[in-house]
Amino acid sequence: MRNLKKCNRIVIKVGSSTLTHESGLLNIRRIEQLVKVLADIKNSGKQVVLVSSGAQAVGFGRLGLKEKPKDMPGKQAIAAIGQCELMYIYDKLFSTYNHVTSQILLTKEDVDNPKRRNNLHNTFLRLLEIGALPIVNENDSVSTEEIEIGDNDTLSAIVATLTQADLLIVLSDIDGLYNDNPKTNPNATLIHHVKSISGAVESMAQGAGSNRGTGGMITKIQAAKIANQHGIDMVIMNGENPNLLYDLFENETIGTYFESTQNKEVEQ
Ligand code: GLU
Repeated sequence: MRNLKKCNRIVIKVGSSTLTHESGLLNIRRIEQLVKVLADIKNSGKQVVLVSSGAQAVGFGRLGLKEKPKDMPGKQAIAAIGQCELMYIYDKLFSTYNHVTSQILLTKEDVDNPKRRNNLHNTFLRLLEIGALPIVNENDSVSTEEIEIGDNDTLSAIVATLTQADLLIVLSDIDGLYNDNPKTNPNATLIHHVKSISGAVESMAQGAGSNRGTGGMITKIQAAKIANQHGIDMVIMNGENPNLLYDLFENETIGTYFESTQNKEVEQ
């Protein structure tokens, strides 16, 4: 396992269920803790890219709707409202610690098109170079089924490859990958280290997470595959206590670590 202290460029993905209450309203304590830790990690010299879900959940909460819209324009409209609110909060909180935020919204079309992909790559690198913190989400307000990435686990892996990150961390509402579904099997145990994503590993990933996000363990394993294939290690850990990120960078065993077979060199 690599020395995580030496990872310099980190992509961190946070899901809707970590950022919001069941009402869809923001979990203010959680987001404040997360921003504080990320600002501190950045102060320690690491580059941070945040992939944040929550646009639809927050938009839904903000409007006080009883049910999430099921039609495309409805989803697109609440995402537009929620994305605005999310960025307002992030910018306000990161500013408290003197960090500049930036917003990147993208769709599958943007990453599939070589020219646009290259533009994205350049923009990310420039933002990191000037010390701004990119906050990324799918552009849900223009995305339709044909052009969507669909879930932010996959999006975070794509962003990790686009930014040539050293590590991808997926903050979830579960501690990591279990050998069975912990919701139905009390004897399920947490897997700490996955050296390669075999069929057996994939079959352990069953069931979706909460109804506020779109991913489940399956999309997280897919994300780990994409990241690992590009030489990027990935960790799935619980986002409930963002302070655990400090322990992770002290090389403590946290969550599930997916080791890339072709680790790229990290600057010493
Ligand atoms: N892009 C969606 C949102 O911000 C979230 C997708 C996901 O949770 O995976 O609402």
